[in-house]
Amino acid sequence: MKFSDLKLLPQILEALHEKGYREPTPVQEQTIPAVMAGRDVLSLAQTGTGKTAAFALPILHILGKSTPPKGIKVLVLAPTRELAIQIYDNFSAYGKSLPFRMALIYGGVGQRNQEQELRRHPAIVIATPGRLIDLYNQGHLRLGEVDVLVLDECDRMLDMGFARDLNKILGLLPKKRQTLLFSATMPADIRTMAEKHMSDPVRVQIVADENNLPKIRQRMYYVNRDQRQHLLLDVLEKEPAEQALIFTRTKRGADRLSKVLTKEGHPAQAIHGDKSQNQREKALQSFKAHSLKILVATDLASRGIDVKELDLVINFDMPADGETYVHRIGRTGRAGREGVSVSFRGYDDGDVEKELIKKYGEELEIIRKHKFLQDGVLLAPDPALAAKNRQGSRKPAPSAPSRNAAGRKASFRK
Ligand code: AMP
Repeated sequence: MKFSDLKLLPQILEALHEKGYREPTPVQEQTIPAVMAGRDVLSLAQTGTGKTAAFALPILHILGKSTPPKGIKVLVLAPTRELAIQIYDNFSAYGKSLPFRMALIYGGVGQRNQEQELRRHPAIVIATPGRLIDLYNQGHLRLGEVDVLVLDECDRMLDMGFARDLNKILGLLPKKRQTLLFSATMPADIRTMAEKHMSDPVRVQIVADENNLPKIRQRMYYVNRDQRQHLLLDVLEKEPAEQALIFTRTKRGADRLSKVLTKEGHPAQAIHGDKSQNQREKALQSFKAHSLKILVATDLASRGIDVKELDLVINFDMPADGETYVHRIGRTGRAGREGVSVSFRGYDDGDVEKELIKKYGEELEIIRKHKFLQDGVLLAPDPALAAKNRQGSRKPAPSAPSRNAAGRKASFRK
């Protein structure tokens, strides 16, 4: 199928051509005609499938065909500011030749500019729920003319505690409207929400198909805490990656690691919830522009990171569960490109390993013995327990590689 078969406006087709999209992805093929026909859509689609364009394109098409509206016609809600910014960027790129405005609303920054944007009669508002409600309560916007509501990454919005805000917003919207709900998982609370607030939705489920699954080569190394940095430097040396996204569990861990990497000749920056919005955006922009090679992030800040051609994701700390793992590694291998994920499995990560083996089987390569864990024995982090374990067969941990930073830098392709 071609985009032109979907009968999108020529201005939109032109923008897609410029972006280099050759054909619609499966979620787009299924969603675009349903939205254009005015139907509600309930979509179970993983990240990286092209779901943003699946809702943005038909919305822009419908708005572009009618006379420029005065009120807010489309409201898109997203869990985090990073994702909201990304959706806004997508709408702006696809709709750049269309004659209506869009506004981007999110918290953590001053609201003056957003108030101004709202006064300019945007037809489309892309927002995180909390700030939208603040601005609504202060009388800066009305929602009585919304024709289309999009809930993106709905499971994540509920996980992040936005259920009350969402219910409030749903109560402010006209009952007669089109609702498009996108979610990576479909837990009971989302099914209930869909039944209550949607009318006979078209269900779009992207089934596991070799061609649209992200192609990600997954490796998991057993490694003790004190050897993780050495292993990381080794991986960065050996992987022919242009850029890497590294996940840590804590904000402090992200800061610490980015400093160590920079010192070792791999300039890196950290993004997490304690950084100012400005710092987060700057780091993200440089990463997207490929001028920053390594970004170290916590899970929350990672939401919405969509970097073309990101080829390497590293779980420096294992995620707490399989779902977070899927989300993290889904930052690479996007839109059919091949990616690599490398995870560091420590003493306490047995449960998540089991979950991943069940999910991925042989697709996940597990490396128990290597240069930095020659006997394959993981040690308990508790010093007393660790000492006890050491009495067994364990040899001393191999020492750190002695090559200098310049040597390391050379093989991490710039
Ligand atoms: P999403 O799942 O919306 O985050 O999109 C994942 C990535 O796929 C983004 O970088 C999009 O720009 C890209 N993308 C979306 N649709 C297409 C398409 N039809 N062809 C090529 N790339 C696409």
